[in-house]
Amino acid sequence: MPLPLIPAELVRLGASPADKNGAIAEAGHLLASAGYIDPAYIDSLLRRETVANTFLGHGVAIPHGMIEDRYLIRHTGVAVLQIPGGLEWNPGQRVHLVVAIAAQSDEHITLLRRLTRLLQDEAQLQRLFGTNDPAPLLAALGEDAVVAEAAVATVADHEHHFSWTMEYPNGLHARPATLWVETARRFDADVLVRNHQESADCKNLIGLLQLGLQHGHELHVSASGPEAEQALATLRDVMTRITAQEQADAAAAALKQKNASRQGWAPAGALPSIGGISASPGLAIGTTRQLRAHAVEVRDRPGQLIDGGVELEAALVATRDELEELAVDTARRLGTAEAGIFRAQAELLNDSELITLTCRFMVQQHGVAWAWHQAVEQQAGRLAALGSPLLAARAADLRDVGRRVLAKLDPSADTGSNGVNGNGETILIAADLAPSDTATLDVTRTLGLCTAQGGPTSHTAILARTLGLPALVAGGAALLDVPDGTTVILDGHGGRLYLDPSADDLASARRWLAEQQERDARQAADRALPAQTRDGHRVEIAANVNRPEKVAEALTAGAEGVGLMRTEFLFLERDTAPDEEEQYATYRAMIEALQGRTLIIRALDIGGDKQVPYLNLPHEENPFLGVRGARLQLRRPDLLEPQLRALYRAAAHGPMSIMFPMITSLDEVRTLRTHCERIRQELNAPQVPLGIMVEVPAVATMADRLAEHVDFFSIGTNDLTQYALAIDRQHPELAREADSLHPAVLRLIQQTVDGARRHQVWVGVCGGLAGDPLGAAILTGLGVHELSMSPRDIPAVKARLRAATHSTLLELARQALDCDSAADVRALEGDAA
Ligand code: PEP
Ligand code: MG
Repeated sequence: MPLPLIPAELVRLGASPADKNGAIAEAGHLLASAGYIDPAYIDSLLRRETVANTFLGHGVAIPHGMIEDRYLIRHTGVAVLQIPGGLEWNPGQRVHLVVAIAAQSDEHITLLRRLTRLLQDEAQLQRLFGTNDPAPLLAALGEDAVVAEAAVATVADHEHHFSWTMEYPNGLHARPATLWVETARRFDADVLVRNHQESADCKNLIGLLQLGLQHGHELHVSASGPEAEQALATLRDVMTRITAQEQADAAAAALKQKNASRQGWAPAGALPSIGGISASPGLAIGTTRQLRAHAVEVRDRPGQLIDGGVELEAALVATRDELEELAVDTARRLGTAEAGIFRAQAELLNDSELITLTCRFMVQQHGVAWAWHQAVEQQAGRLAALGSPLLAARAADLRDVGRRVLAKLDPSADTGSNGVNGNGETILIAADLAPSDTATLDVTRTLGLCTAQGGPTSHTAILARTLGLPALVAGGAALLDVPDGTTVILDGHGGRLYLDPSADDLASARRWLAEQQERDARQAADRALPAQTRDGHRVEIAANVNRPEKVAEALTAGAEGVGLMRTEFLFLERDTAPDEEEQYATYRAMIEALQGRTLIIRALDIGGDKQVPYLNLPHEENPFLGVRGARLQLRRPDLLEPQLRALYRAAAHGPMSIMFPMITSLDEVRTLRTHCERIRQELNAPQVPLGIMVEVPAVATMADRLAEHVDFFSIGTNDLTQYALAIDRQHPELAREADSLHPAVLRLIQQTVDGARRHQVWVGVCGGLAGDPLGAAILTGLGVHELSMSPRDIPAVKARLRAATHSTLLELARQALDCDSAADVRALEGDAA
């Protein structure tokens, strides 16, 4: 039975949230506890605020989640939070009604329409802001609302006009409507949008939303004034252009929904459960064990001040060493990012205020252990009381690290350490877990984790994901009431703990687990095998990896090396360029992580879609056709020199190759080689293979000439496609047509391979086509030596190539070159293996 859009329990009067995020979370919790959304959607509501302003005007805000997270919505519904005292939404924008929308498709457009009409009726709004009775709110927003007519009216069309069918799958919602308004406002013209009898000024967002435009509606857009024709032409273009994006967003959302329902397990019927936020996917069947935090007890044993100081110093040094060991171990087991948690904890021990406070207690005749514990509690309490989740997390870290020091100062003290490991079937439940508890968990004895507090980005969540343990966080106080030994099924993907499942539910969950394990085992076995066709032709399989800490993951996924390290990632999301030392450390770490396997490091490819504000590069009308990649390096010695020096210094530590992006001419190759050789000699560094990316059609067609001057080619099919087809790879409307399987692109690849073959030059492919199983099959047939892709694409590509024979791939490539279009090439798929 469909649930009502706004039931009475979704209206909360007299709310007084501390801030905007608090208001959104409160409204989100209303929706979650009434079963309208998965709690994870609350995160999506918060995320939307970082990309859009949901303030509607006149004291009303309409938070709504990201389109791609719609699969987290169980029923379309709306929660209303009335804040009589008002709340600053954004600077200068005060809100009294928060209308949080969870809409699966375009049902909420009607609500939006009611709301926008309501905004015209100031007197009624003021009543709603202060009412003690939910009835008028429900009446104003509910299905049978009678509201004042306002910004929409029947007005005759203007002189110039066009008709247009709304093909946005979700109708006209706030984001595209804003783009319409912004476009109309650029022109000296009156622009009207009409749907049947109702018209609205296209420069008025509220008016437009009031039209309640839905998929399939026929619109008439008309304009008058000096720039009427121009305004209409541009507007039509913008309206149409958005269609592709809206359709792509809706398709992506549908796919995510499909995948989500395929990924998860669900009980056949209703089962008591506790919902939280998914922190780490996977399903676990086990019995619960509560880790009850208990107060730390420390006896006050006064002693000599000097002795106390010495003991404190020794305990701090020992704890620092212990944390470093833990960090090294965690780095090996889990990764550098996870290990950083313990380095940050060690940093807390350097807090001079903490030490001063401890000494003050000692001067007051208290024992060192007691003094330390008091100081930690005071500092942590102060941090936690500030109301910021970030500082609350620091408080938890401080207590965690404080416990370690305490155990050294007074080994007899009950430090409250939980001894968190289970018995092999255990699902641990805790109010929260300290990072060191999670990192030292023995995954063979614990099947899953549930915490009442925490968030999806908390340390516990990060560590649980890395350990591969299903986990849910923010399950609330109800979790702490689950008796020890309860049989449960933990769905880490959906963030839900099912209590006391029936024998049938247990059997179905076990079946689901067995199927998953079987599939994983099959893939894991195949991932490790070479990409060799049934008749023995082998292609190298590499991964596109940018950071040393990601290498292990790529190798586990089946990569034999790294075919593309995009160094521009070192330059993004920061305020200054990394210097030679920093670059050297990263390249060296990458070489060491690969332990002698292939590594191709690409020189900086800035420009085009990758802009770096602090480099102050001049604005270009067509950045993809401008100074990017090698063209920029050749103009900016301040970028080229430190990078080449760092690369050649790193080369002393193991094999690697250097590759230059966006090469167009032989002159560029010659100049870059000269720079490389000069720097190599200055550093007395070893020779390193120097290659170029084939991304510009000019290079593909001249490959036979360029091959004489390079050690290898790596084809960047992403750029080669955009330049061959003259389609901006980011164009909202055209990008979907930029299919790298277009025969024009394949012919350029063939020319590259043929040109390279004349000089026995090795050819790899590191663009997206390499990770598409059909693309990989055709590329192998065309004769490339290596395919480098995102690690997650490796299993499917290997499976495809291993199932084929080389002769069928040669034939497939021949047929593909002979096709008329990318669609025709894709249609060959059925015969490929
Ligand atoms: C390419 O163009 O195919 C490529 C691999 O480079 P990027 O995607 O970084 O431009
Ligand atoms: Mg490229």
